[in-house]
Amino acid sequence: MTIEFTITQMQRLKELGVSIEDNRTFLTVEERELEFSKMASHYHSQGREAIRNMLDEPERHPLAQLEDTLAQALVKKNFIEVKTPTIIARNTLEKMGIGQDHPLYEQVFWVDKKRCLRPMLAPNLYFLMRHLKRNINGPLRLFEIGTCYRRESRGSNHLEDFTMLNLVELGPENDPTDQLHSHISTVMGAVDLDYKLKTCQSEVYVHTTDVEVNGIEVASAAVGPHILDDAHGIKDPWAGVGFGLERLLMIKNDADNIKRVGRSLIYLRGVRLDI
Ligand code: ATP
Ligand code: MG
Repeated sequence: MTIEFTITQMQRLKELGVSIEDNRTFLTVEERELEFSKMASHYHSQGREAIRNMLDEPERHPLAQLEDTLAQALVKKNFIEVKTPTIIARNTLEKMGIGQDHPLYEQVFWVDKKRCLRPMLAPNLYFLMRHLKRNINGPLRLFEIGTCYRRESRGSNHLEDFTMLNLVELGPENDPTDQLHSHISTVMGAVDLDYKLKTCQSEVYVHTTDVEVNGIEVASAAVGPHILDDAHGIKDPWAGVGFGLERLLMIKNDADNIKRVGRSLIYLRGVRLDI
């Protein structure tokens, strides 16, 4: 009979941030118990030290730091930053084609019959594009970084409240696809991650280009003219992309679960607080 860590022990070690080889075996139960308490106590003190260091040398939260890095990179490229409401009207979702039959509809958190927490930034950006465009002749570059909400039941890459960066250029001087690639490269350069582009089907945009790092989607992008443009009074071509900031952080920090890097009462900077 092979003796392995129990499920509870594996769980505890995982919580403490230990990555354990799957085939770790022991000759006796006593040997296993001894190894478990040695490891648990080691990672326990490591966690406590990490918390003490945070208290000694306060810095901004990694999510806030990433937000700042990305916002600065985009402002340098002449993007205007906007901050829009997180509570949006039902009809703005309908304009995005998200009605009761749409898969994303099931994931929406409703505040009341007519309002919900935004599952994406695009509806508000569409609205602003239309109004700001009237004031300028050349290309219009906009971006927002903010929380989005989706009911999720899926595992380690999904949060119910996560941070999206959505940028868009309306009426670019060059080919929208070239511009899209250039803006994706600005963002991925600012976070210093290598990536691949992949063409996909989307429930909202029909065709999207996904940005992937190690096979994990970190962003979805699209170009217009697009079928949704009419409903928003948009006539010019555009290039837009939405990145998940926690996905980027998770990959950057080599974290095994997005919960370690997102808004949390359990983790701070990847360190478990209930230790
Ligand atoms: P996925 O297929 O991974 O669930 P999606 O295609 O539904 O994502 P999009 O609507 O394309 O997501 O949103 C743009 C980006 O926002 C995604 O590429 C991802 O980085 C991030 N994102 C989307 N949903 C979540 C979530 N629940 N938690 C964390 N990040 C998310
Ligand atoms: Mg996507």
